[in-house]
Amino acid sequence: MKSRNILVGLIFLALLANTGFNIFLFYNLSKIYMINGDFRPDILLNEVQKKIESDELEIPPVEIFKFISADIYAKDYVMFTGKKIVIFLNLNVLGNLNDGELKALIAHEIGHYVLGHLSDRPRTFNGTEAGDLKQEKDADSFAAKYEGSESIALAISKLVWDENEKKTRLSALGVN
Ligand SMILES: [Zn+2]
Repeated sequence: MKSRNILVGLIFLALLANTGFNIFLFYNLSKIYMINGDFRPDILLNEVQKKIESDELEIPPVEIFKFISADIYAKDYVMFTGKKIVIFLNLNVLGNLNDGELKALIAHEIGHYVLGHLSDRPRTFNGTEAGDLKQEKDADSFAAKYEGSESIALAISKLVWDENEKKTRLSALGVN
């Protein structure tokens, strides 16, 4: 009976500590991910979309899905479902990118759609994996057109882990 009480007490303490940790974690994350209660990437996506559409380019609805990966290089994915562009954004990258860089990343992914690169198979921000560096460079210059070459260059230097690919993409943008 006594050991059962101790067990219940321990479980209760563990739950309490865990909840406290979760609330703390959520509080910290919300500083990075939210602006006045709205999901930061959604707000930035809106700004990017407006810029691209003011250029008479038609784009389907874009949806950002969030996922958390322990991978610090944070593979982000984009695909086209036939109706909308879906961007899978690793929440790990958010703390690492400022607003300008995040907008450049979003513009890059939308660029893949505009340039006709997207299929229903997800492609990552890293061209080496997708096996087509030329398309990555084209999407980079699309992003540079709307969000500036400096922002997309910084996003590339933070997210692309293959040194050769990084070099090639940065020099294609005229940045070294
Ligand atoms: Zn890409």
